Amino acid sequence: MTAVWFAALALLLAGPVPALLARARWTWQVPRAALVLWQAIALGAVLATLGAGLASLSLLVTEEPGFPFLERHGPVQTTLIGLGSALVAVVTVRFWVVATFVGVRTRRRRNRHRDLVDLLHRNESLSQVNAALLSGTGVRVLAGPGRVAYCVPGVRSRVVVSDAMLASLTPEEVRAVLAHERAHLRARHDLVLEGFTALHAAFPRVVSSQAALDSVRLLVEMLADDAARRRAGTQPLARALVALAGSGDPGQEMPVGSAALARVRRLAARPPRRGLSALTYAAAAVVLGGPTLAIAVPWLQASYRALAH
Ligand SMILES: [Zn+2]
Repeated sequence: MTAVWFAALALLLAGPVPALLARARWTWQVPRAALVLWQAIALGAVLATLGAGLASLSLLVTEEPGFPFLERHGPVQTTLIGLGSALVAVVTVRFWVVATFVGVRTRRRRNRHRDLVDLLHRNESLSQVNAALLSGTGVRVLAGPGRVAYCVPGVRSRVVVSDAMLASLTPEEVRAVLAHERAHLRARHDLVLEGFTALHAAFPRVVSSQAALDSVRLLVEMLADDAARRRAGTQPLARALVALAGSGDPGQEMPVGSAALARVRRLAARPPRRGLSALTYAAAAVVLGGPTLAIAVPWLQASYRALAH
């Protein structure tokens, strides 16, 4: 029965739960706690899948010598459990292989990108006021008509802006944009996203993996917005978002269509209700700890008893 419970939990955490959470709007009020909840759900799904596989295997191998399970339950049920275990193994191996591939590819692409922006950096295009703003290390300015602002995360991180963006925004707005990008780099939001990117790359046909990735991306933007508004003020950030969203340049990081609108609206909304963040953290603890413990403890006890004999 343990394997069935684990499998049911894995299906729940891989399907309906992320689908519901992706549609929720209350998460926008508490992006940090909501991201923790997303991570708890993803990790919970992975652990439950592993648990289902291990529990199935334990049915086949942790009893008396020979094949007592086969004798007791017949070939059909034994084959089903064997197939279930194999499926779990395939899912697990696939995830880790794809996650490694995504990690290696991302870092290689990032290194190339950083070398390129270092090469194309235009120091001379900075005005006096922006030179003071951009004095921090790692800011690179590109020439061109597009209004661009994004970051290249990693150990030697970069914030990349275009001279068109610097020319069209006020110094306060530029400060807000830079604070937003630096918040991404400081908090290593790229690592949070990488896990969900790997999940989506490994299982693209699972409907919720795309919804989860989109939702997590938006929450990460909102988290960086919160850091930027603390540093540069809400109004300059909102104006910068509107200005960059209106430019319609492809490939830029800050505006993301309707997501940019959601972010601007959110900046104008009331502060989050007290307790919502604590409730969300509690939900994360329950998602990860509660069912897993409830299923794992009896299973561990049964395994211990079987081994002690
Ligand atoms: Zn961002």
